[in-house]
Amino acid sequence: MTGASQGAVTLDKISKRYGRAHAIREVSLDVAPGRFVTLLGPSGSGKTTTLMAIAGFVQPSSGRILMNGADITRLPPNRRDLGMVFQHYALFPNMTVAQNVAYPLKVRRRPAEEIARRVRAALEMVKLEDFGDRAPVKLSGGQQQRVALARAIVFRPDVLLMDEPLGALDKNLRDHMQTEIRRIHRQLGATVFYVTHDQDEALSMSDVVVVMRDGAIAQIGAPEELYERPATAFVAKFIGGANVLAGASEGGQGGRALLRHGSGQPILAPAGEVSGRAEIAVRPERIGLGLPDPARGETGLSATLTEVTYGGAVTRIAAEAGGEEIAAVLPRAHVADLPEPGAAIALKWAADDAVLLHPEAEH
Ligand code: ADP
Ligand code: MG
Repeated sequence: MTGASQGAVTLDKISKRYGRAHAIREVSLDVAPGRFVTLLGPSGSGKTTTLMAIAGFVQPSSGRILMNGADITRLPPNRRDLGMVFQHYALFPNMTVAQNVAYPLKVRRRPAEEIARRVRAALEMVKLEDFGDRAPVKLSGGQQQRVALARAIVFRPDVLLMDEPLGALDKNLRDHMQTEIRRIHRQLGATVFYVTHDQDEALSMSDVVVVMRDGAIAQIGAPEELYERPATAFVAKFIGGANVLAGASEGGQGGRALLRHGSGQPILAPAGEVSGRAEIAVRPERIGLGLPDPARGETGLSATLTEVTYGGAVTRIAAEAGGEEIAAVLPRAHVADLPEPGAAIALKWAADDAVLLHPEAEH
């Protein structure tokens, strides 16, 4: 049994084909020990396949997987010593909670005294120390998932794999379990690969987020980096729901490129060098009401208000310009002060708050 100071994982261009279809293509990733890495993407983007390749249940068609520098691509799953938790907890129904948690240690033929000690520690970590004698069916969904988590960490793996572990839980329980999983990650120090299609979950839990699309990595970065500097329209929209505005380049103005928006209006891009058509992303909360002041680096669009939605802490509005929908989140707007849908409104934002996007790679 190793300590959790290990757990470096490298994926070196792993691909998996089923017939002619690619489940994943040339996925490369370098993960330092102890990181919390989330694979985020829509359904079918290759998250589970990537995780199963790390686990050893899927054999890559090409590429290598290294753990602590050693090539484990051909190693069977039971010799990889990884902890695993899936969406459906798959506890053994005929065993007690404690027996479930003890199982990985039994398989590893650890002495009875050590098993008892480690099972107790694992159940304490998931706050189920008083539930050892219960049958799994007598527990709630959240409790069962915590048993599954205890079973995955009981042998102190260097690497913990979790595939949508909270997907079957309701929102309150999910929020609570997110906090618990982060706490356990801190205590354990293991490298975690966490799969989700929920961007909020990815942003709030991870050190590193890997955004996947069509079996390939769309972007890798810290949560803030992905939110502030999305590389493509896909990442910008998938994380945080950005407005993506397109326009044709029309020279520059004050060191910034000028784009002719579909509505015919000029908007300032955040950068100077743009050729041909370009896309920029603007976050809804960076957009305000009013005419832009170019002297202060602001730009904007005149638009038609289409919808006002009261949301408590914020008010959301939707507007339309040149056939594109633009969403804005207004933290201090009173619904009563806003015009009716159908009215003309002016939207503004700081040009530097927008991000110039790269064209999408096509497969
Ligand atoms: P995700 O977990 O992101 O939803 P998956 O990794 O499960 O995505 O699947 C990625 C793609 O590979 C999907 O198009 C899926 O249909 C395909 N795929 C996954 N497993 C198999 C399989 N055993 N046989 C054929 N196609 C598969
Ligand atoms: Mg999946």
